[in-house]
Parts: sequence; structure tokens; C-alpha cells
Amino acid sequence: SKIVVIVGGVAGGANVAAQLRRDDQESEIILFDKGEHIAFSTCGMPYYIGGVVDKREHLLVNADQFAEKYNVNVQTNTEVTFIDRGNKQITYRNKTGKQRKSYDKLVLSPGASAIKPDLKGTDDERVFTLHSIPDMDAIHNFIQTKKPRTCAIIGAGFVGLEMVENLKALGIDCTVVDRSEQVMKLVDQDMASIIEDHLKAKDVQLILNDQLDSFSNNSKTLHLNSGKILQADMTILAAGIRPNTKLARDSELEIGSTGAIKVNEYMQSSDPDIYALGDAVQTNNPLTGSPRHVALAGPAHRQAFVVAAHLNSDEIEYAGTLGSAIFKVFDMTVGSTGLNKAVLDHLKIGYIEITHETLSHAGYYPGAENICIKILFDEKTGRLYGAQVIGEEGVDKRLAVLATAMKAGLTVRGLPELELGYAPPYSSPKDPVNVIGYKAEKALE
Ligand code: FAD
Repeated sequence: SKIVVIVGGVAGGANVAAQLRRDDQESEIILFDKGEHIAFSTCGMPYYIGGVVDKREHLLVNADQFAEKYNVNVQTNTEVTFIDRGNKQITYRNKTGKQRKSYDKLVLSPGASAIKPDLKGTDDERVFTLHSIPDMDAIHNFIQTKKPRTCAIIGAGFVGLEMVENLKALGIDCTVVDRSEQVMKLVDQDMASIIEDHLKAKDVQLILNDQLDSFSNNSKTLHLNSGKILQADMTILAAGIRPNTKLARDSELEIGSTGAIKVNEYMQSSDPDIYALGDAVQTNNPLTGSPRHVALAGPAHRQAFVVAAHLNSDEIEYAGTLGSAIFKVFDMTVGSTGLNKAVLDHLKIGYIEITHETLSHAGYYPGAENICIKILFDEKTGRLYGAQVIGEEGVDKRLAVLATAMKAGLTVRGLPELELGYAPPYSSPKDPVNVIGYKAEKALE
């Protein structure tokens, strides 16, 4: 029997606790979160704000019920402030003051924080980030009570674009500002332009190659670097996240080149008694071994399984993070997995890119929509490095197939052979994934 202390009680931390308890009835498990809530559905927050999810409770887990079900000591509103590795103790602080707790094994899943530009006005009541339940509540309450008509969204990543869709559904006019030359840096520029066209078709104003310089007029006026001026009743800062590494840095755990906590294949930090997972850690891309910081729920859940197994003396290696991601923006679905052009160029890997635009299923059967698939693969071996899929129907399936193919180490020559199931409502006798495989084979010759 041992004492397992977990810092952070949402995607990573709560899963480690639940998973560990299934196989270990003996250990004392204590879970700290500085917030009021644990195990909430972060990914659902934009949809609660937009009214698609009608009840706030649907995103929340009752901490007492969780504690009872898994026999875990849950300490909410309690921040862990220091790790004393020498004495294997942590210091935590809640409303009754500071205390220490000994551990045999420590698990860090403190997540990441939304990046706030260092500007006057970012703490104004009409300027928001979206990373926690209190953030979500603040946006929701502001919309209900102040009835804003316009919103500026700084950052065109998935949080920014999911918010655009949800705010538009409430009748709020949106302007998106991004400092790069395209939206959604996860995909290549040619693919991003499809998203940009869709945003414009939905009456979203898009300002690229520009960034927020300052606020004035009680944060209602935004001044951009270019000199452009925007008026907005509210602003959402969605300009990226930073891994929460303060505890790790203060206790001199090794930090990786991406700025996130370095871990081994069992998710152990440079101190073998301290595990780390989720948005706070750096993982390797399984195709290239190159380090990346990927902040997604799927990998956090898998890592939690690996940590719980290792705590139970079961050595299951974490196989790396492909970074498969999918999100919805109005009628469109955008999916991406593996490495894009920018990353491959950076790694100086020689690759070929092929794009295939077609219909999601047989054209004569109602409901077929355009789908655009792009793959990037090794110029010599044909090994798949990355895939991007955008369209209005059947995107999730093609993304999942390509991500699985990559994971299984298939080359593009394997794609035409995949039997994916055909009837007119779903596909064509040659599925778009088969066809892009044929095209890629030709390009390799
Ligand atoms: P978190 O879930 O963020 O949990 C960290 C917790 O640690 C927090 O509750 C924090 O309060 C607590 N904490 C931090 N420091 C301390 C401390 N010192 N003491 C005590 N507690 C501490 N991913 C997807 O795959 N798909 C999606 O659709 C998707 N949508 C998203 C939408 C939004 C708006 C956001 C913000 C994220 C979304 N994500 C999505 C990302 C996903 O939510 C994260 O990857 C995942 O939650 C990471 O889990 P984690 O345990 O590392 O961190």
C-alpha cells in the first residue's frame, strides 16, 4: 500500500485516480485541484455557451460522488504550491491555510493556461479567456446580462473558431484576428483557405497578419498593429496555451525543448517517483521521434492509463502522440493528424504532398458534399507522415482511417487496398482514401 498524490483533477488527474482504483483497492489516493470542479468536460464549454448543450450540469461531475465511487480523497479549491522532493512531501494551500502531505508517488496533471497578452485591459470584465468552468460562467453571464452584439476573437485556433460558431448562433457578430497569414495553423495554408472561405460565407470578419496592440475605451476599442481599429462589446483571447510547469520547474524537474515537462515512456519525469501527463508534458511523435507539445484530451486519457498501470507495476509504454484532432466550424468539419508541411519543413524531412477533392459519397445519392483530403508522405518510402481532411460530411471517418493507417505504419501503397465498406449513402466503390492512395503511388513512381 502506498500514498499516491495527484495534482490536477480534470482530464489527466481524475482519470489516473479512477483507473488506479480499479486495480488497487489498498493505496491512499488524494486528488488536489485548485478549482472548484473536477473531471469536467472542458471540450463541451463552447457548446454550453452557444446553447447547444442546454444544462451546465451536463459538463460537470459531482466531486463527492466521484470521491465515494472511487474511494479517493478529493480536495478541491486547494492549490499545490511546492514539491519537496528530498522529503517526498508537497505543500498545499486552501482556505484554512498551508499544510504538507507526504507521498510515495506523485502525479502531475496541472494542464495548461490560456496565454494572455501582456496588455492593459486584458483583465477588464468584457475580456475573456476560455479554459475553466469559471471562465465559461463569466462568458455565459456576460452574454445573458449585457447582451453584447459584437465580439472580437483573438486567435483562429480551434477554441477561437468553435467560439465563433457558438457566438454567431446567439446572434453575436464576430471578428477574428490572427497574427499569422492563415487560420488554424494545424493544417497547411491551402487547406486553411477552405476554412477561411467558409467563415466569410458565414459572415465572419477575418483579419489575418495582424495582432492586438492595445485596448481603449473600457476595452471596447481594440487597436491592432496595422493601425486598424475594431469596436467590440466583448473580446475572447484564444491565442494559445502554455503548459503549467511552475511546480516542475521550482522542484527542478527536467523541462523539454518545447517548454513542457519531459517524461519517459512510462510518463515518469526526471524524478522516477513523479509522473506527469496531459497538457503539461512533452511527448514524441511516433513517426519521427521528434518532441512535441500536444494538448488534447485523447492523449491525456491514454497517458492516464499508462500512469495508472505503472503505479500498479504494469509496464505499458506510451507510444507517442500523433496529434489527431477534429473540430467543427459551422457546417464544416476539419480534421488533422500527424505532421503538417511546416513541421516537416522544420524537421528537414523530404516529403510529397497530394490533395484529392471529391464527393463524400456517390454523387447521385442525396446529401453528397465536397470533401478535401490531403496527405503528406515520405518521398522515398511512401510512409505516411500526416493527413488533413476538410468537408461537410464523412470527414471524421476519413481522418480516423488515415490516422489508423499512420499508426499501423502503412505506406501510401497500402491505402488503395483498404476495404472500407461501400453503399451509395456512405462512399463510392473506390473510397476517397483509396483514390488518394492511387494518386500517391503514381507520384512516388
Ligand atoms: P486539465 O484538464 O486542464 O486539468 C488541469 C487541472 O489542474 C485544472 O483543473 C487546474 O485547476 C488544476 N491545477 C493546475 N495547477 C494546480 C495546482 N498547482 N494545484 C492544484 N490544481 C492545479 N481536446 C480535445 O481533444 N478535443 C476537444 O474538442 C477539445 N476542446 C477543448 C475546448 C476548450 C475550450 C479547451 C480549453 C480545451 C479543449 N481541449 C480539447 C483540450 C483538452 O481539454 C485538454 O487537452 C485536457 O483537458 C488536458 O487535460 P489535463 O489533465 O492535462 O489538464
